[in-house]
Amino acid sequence: MFETLSDRLTSVFSSLRSKGRLSDADIDATCREIRIALLEADVALPVVRAFVARVKERARGAEVSQALNPAQQVVKIVHDELIEVLGGETRRLRFAKTPPTVIMLAGLQGSGKTTLAGKLARWLRTQGHAPLLVACDLQRPNAVQQLSVLAERAEVAVFAPEPGNGVGDPVDVARRSIEYARQKNHDMVIIDTAGRLGIDQEMMKQAADIRDAVQPDEILFVVDAMIGQDAVTTAQAFMEGVGFDAVVLTKLDGDARGGAALSVRHVTGRPIMFASTGEKLEDFDLFHPDRMASRILDMGDILTLIEQAQRTFDEQEAAKMAGKLVSGEEFTLDDFLEQMMMVRRLGPIKNLLGMMPGMGQMRDQLNKIDDRDLDRIAAIIRSMTPAERRDPKIINGSRRERIARGSGVTVTEVNNLVVRFFEAQKMMKRMASGLGFPGMPGGRK
Ligand code: GDP
Repeated sequence: MFETLSDRLTSVFSSLRSKGRLSDADIDATCREIRIALLEADVALPVVRAFVARVKERARGAEVSQALNPAQQVVKIVHDELIEVLGGETRRLRFAKTPPTVIMLAGLQGSGKTTLAGKLARWLRTQGHAPLLVACDLQRPNAVQQLSVLAERAEVAVFAPEPGNGVGDPVDVARRSIEYARQKNHDMVIIDTAGRLGIDQEMMKQAADIRDAVQPDEILFVVDAMIGQDAVTTAQAFMEGVGFDAVVLTKLDGDARGGAALSVRHVTGRPIMFASTGEKLEDFDLFHPDRMASRILDMGDILTLIEQAQRTFDEQEAAKMAGKLVSGEEFTLDDFLEQMMMVRRLGPIKNLLGMMPGMGQMRDQLNKIDDRDLDRIAAIIRSMTPAERRDPKIINGSRRERIARGSGVTVTEVNNLVVRFFEAQKMMKRMASGLGFPGMPGGRK
């Protein structure tokens, strides 16, 4: 997401870098480029106008900083303004004083609403809540079943009308679900409502009736980021028809432009609370405007990377690896394999590297990275005997050929792996002996 915008903006800034001071003409030219970049990213025109006007005003104003050169100042201003347009502070869920907290989802059919209900429920469960998923989309065939399957995968409870009792009344189902949640001690209720392919008065009325019946603590408007400018009109229609407290953007993985994300807040006055970035239940997180702005400007998103690692690895695993380092125990190919698999679990390598600052410019190279390369390395190590994994020095020429055949790679690949492993082993020894990395502060030169 945001690749085109990111590329355009970074190239605008790089042309400023050589300037010692920015004239009004320089600022005007830069603002023109920023305007084009935003329009190309499918950001709504009123948002573009307001954004560029603010950047221009601030860049021309007296914001003279000793610490920053002119190009850096413009980057800082654009960064600040991006955070602002994306919603400022991260908007977190508000919980009801007396449980259950009721969250109602609204949006068009196909926006990813039902999938999102499952993702949100799973996310809440991992934070220690006991959510109840409620199926109030009684129109779309299979919607109830889809929600039940998602609930099972998310390991949460579901409340749905019993099959065979006709279509049922969604308002009644919603009302009964709150009572049920109280009885069964569910502290969160997530209500999935019916959507239509287009904006439709009947759908709006039904959503409004459910809203009036259950008085949700949060109404979340779910919108597919890939529909671009249409996201804005749809959001406005839902704002008038049902009203909502915050927005959830789905399918951000598929949208290179991201204009919807940059427009929706400005146009509706409601912040983006969550972002959905894939078909898996885990592809979901709070939306952090500051981190997103940094990503767009290719300043990296280290915080998200760290959180992802913390979520993926339990403390035991981390402690085990750290213990191995501190004890100075010999680092073996088994450890190498284990570490590699840990990294692999964090997700596609190119996504991980993409969160590092400055990596945006290397997108072509990143796209060439194939996670299957790691699987090949794993296959090579698995074709070795336990003794060989402990001490690869004993692997002779004919064994290398056998291993290559066994894992379906060339002998050169086996050789490369062994060489790389010896380097890793050396580095581990250095870390264990407390000398640090060469070139690092306090490390060996
Ligand atoms: P609903 O009609 O609004 O309930 O939409 P669904 O939840 O059934 O989703 C419609 C389609 O979009 C399904 O095929 C989902 O797998 C897919 N989908 C949902 N969220 C995402 C997402 O964040 N990324 C991608 N790539 N696909 C998604």
